[in-house]
Amino acid sequence: MLKQICALCIKATLDMNFGKKMAQTLQNPALSQTYPLEDILDDRLEIEKLKSLGLTTRCKMIRKILSARTTNPIPSAIAASALTKIFNSFEISEEFYDWQREKRHLFVTALMDKNNRLILESYRNWNKISPTIQKQAIKKATRIHRDIYVDGVCQPLPYSVNFEERAIRRTGLNLSIVFGRFNGNIETGEGTITQYMEHGHLLHNAREAFDTTHHETTHLIQHHLSVAFQRGGIKSSHPLRREAACFHEIDRHHVYVSSKETVTYLSQPHEVLAHQEGHKISLAIEALAL
Ligand SMILES: [Zn+2]
Repeated sequence: MLKQICALCIKATLDMNFGKKMAQTLQNPALSQTYPLEDILDDRLEIEKLKSLGLTTRCKMIRKILSARTTNPIPSAIAASALTKIFNSFEISEEFYDWQREKRHLFVTALMDKNNRLILESYRNWNKISPTIQKQAIKKATRIHRDIYVDGVCQPLPYSVNFEERAIRRTGLNLSIVFGRFNGNIETGEGTITQYMEHGHLLHNAREAFDTTHHETTHLIQHHLSVAFQRGGIKSSHPLRREAACFHEIDRHHVYVSSKETVTYLSQPHEVLAHQEGHKISLAIEALAL
């Protein structure tokens, strides 16, 4: 069975350096307790208890499950349930959502600028324009998204957007098409968005193409916050500090679940945010274009 899933992506951070100094607040031992695996997998462990634990402790719990299940026969349903519960315990603040809303408004305003008309015109005529123009529009949308969201928040980082052949992945009996992925390196700061649109679906579906673009660009923004946190650029008074610390801890401990495990994958805070924001932005573009 061929299953198409919107804006699936794989997030990976390369060349992790676990020896780097940690931010002051994360060195507090009270925020970094260790729990035995059986306690982490116990379904009586309540989400409210998890919310009271530090980011480091929760990321270590996730890492423990991810590492243990490669060698131990943990029933996959129990591991998935524990992972999902821990990911659900990462809360995103109202301030962060307010900030996203303001930036989204600025992005939509920028689309109406005549210098950026390539995006709306391309969206409107998606099936009539060449793949070259489509890719130019995607790159321009990524650039505007990145520049606006990072402005006044942290330093812009080097990034690239690549286009590749569509990727098909087998999970059990199902096949799914992967539309995009993001790779970031928190040491060098480099980020790479890959959009699988050399052939196939995205060349014919503007909403899906831009949904993927802005999903992956949301990961690029998360990567900016993570790197800024790593480099000490997010002060304790920074309004996005809590989320920057969260993205940084996830990157630092390399606690990602692949989209092969759909439910757990969708519960990861960076994926929840990327799905929401990618969807909202692509709908906003559509509302202006059509
Ligand atoms: Zn994603």
